[in-house]
Amino acid sequence: MAKMMDMETKIGRRFEGEVAIVTASTQGIGFAIAERLGLEGASVVISSRKQKNVDEAVEKLKNKGIEVFGVVCHVSNAQHRKDLIQKTVDKYGKIDVIVSNAAVNPSVDPLLRTLEPILDKLWEINVKATVLLLQEAAPHLQKGSSIVIISSIAGYNPQPAMAMYGVTKTALLGLTKALATEMAPVTRVNAVAPGFVPTNFAAYITKDEDVKKVNEEKTLLGRLGTPKDMAAAAAFLASDDACYITGETLIVAGGLPSRL
Ligand code: NAP
Repeated sequence: MAKMMDMETKIGRRFEGEVAIVTASTQGIGFAIAERLGLEGASVVISSRKQKNVDEAVEKLKNKGIEVFGVVCHVSNAQHRKDLIQKTVDKYGKIDVIVSNAAVNPSVDPLLRTLEPILDKLWEINVKATVLLLQEAAPHLQKGSSIVIISSIAGYNPQPAMAMYGVTKTALLGLTKALATEMAPVTRVNAVAPGFVPTNFAAYITKDEDVKKVNEEKTLLGRLGTPKDMAAAAAFLASDDACYITGETLIVAGGLPSRL
């Protein structure tokens, strides 16, 4: 079994005094990223669609000694995006890090049979919401600030059962480059492309032992990824350790093939 990320013993304090917003962060990869940034000293602003999930996640992070603030934010709702940024600035006075993590995959239909409202929803949440959130945040971003966008290994080779989802993740590779150009030198913009990570989102992988095994065997490291693996990569890109890196996508997929 390949070595796994042991967060409790190996982390530093790279985000002391910084303010980090993570979208879609009440569970899964987003939660792990918020936890990691918080354990490294950031004040973290977590968010998702449901107040109950926000409250529960805030409680969990507080219990770990993290300075955390929760805001309900459905990323495709303009007022919610405005609130997320404004409430963060009202409470903490600035923004140093934004991790744009929200995505949906509402259909397993082939592309040529995917209905237009589904195509619109995929574009709206997986791609457009990041641009609109950053438009809202831009006036508040500090010099030396950093954006991390969560793409996917699926962006490199969109699979039949989630082709349009994969295409939106391919778009994020381009969006990362375009935003990095536009936001330099004040803000760096990078992306993480996770491989298979057993979360609710990817329940189809872990529900069935045979499917899980096939996906483990596709990796070079012989295992699925964990939210903590993704958090470690996102924290690296967001931190000053990556201060000469912008416009890049870090593939964190245990060696899965990843060419466009
Ligand atoms: P997850 O465990 O299912 O968590 C999803 C989170 O997003 C929840 O906190 C949910 O809370 C929130 N959420 C859902 N829709 C939202 C919306 N419209 N606006 C705001 N928050 C929303 O998912 P995950 O696996 O961690 O996925 C996170 C990211 O990683 C996604 O961008 C996904 O594409 C990417 N990714 C995942 C994998 C994988 O294998 N898991 C692989 C590659 C990339 P509420 O229900 O309260 O909104």
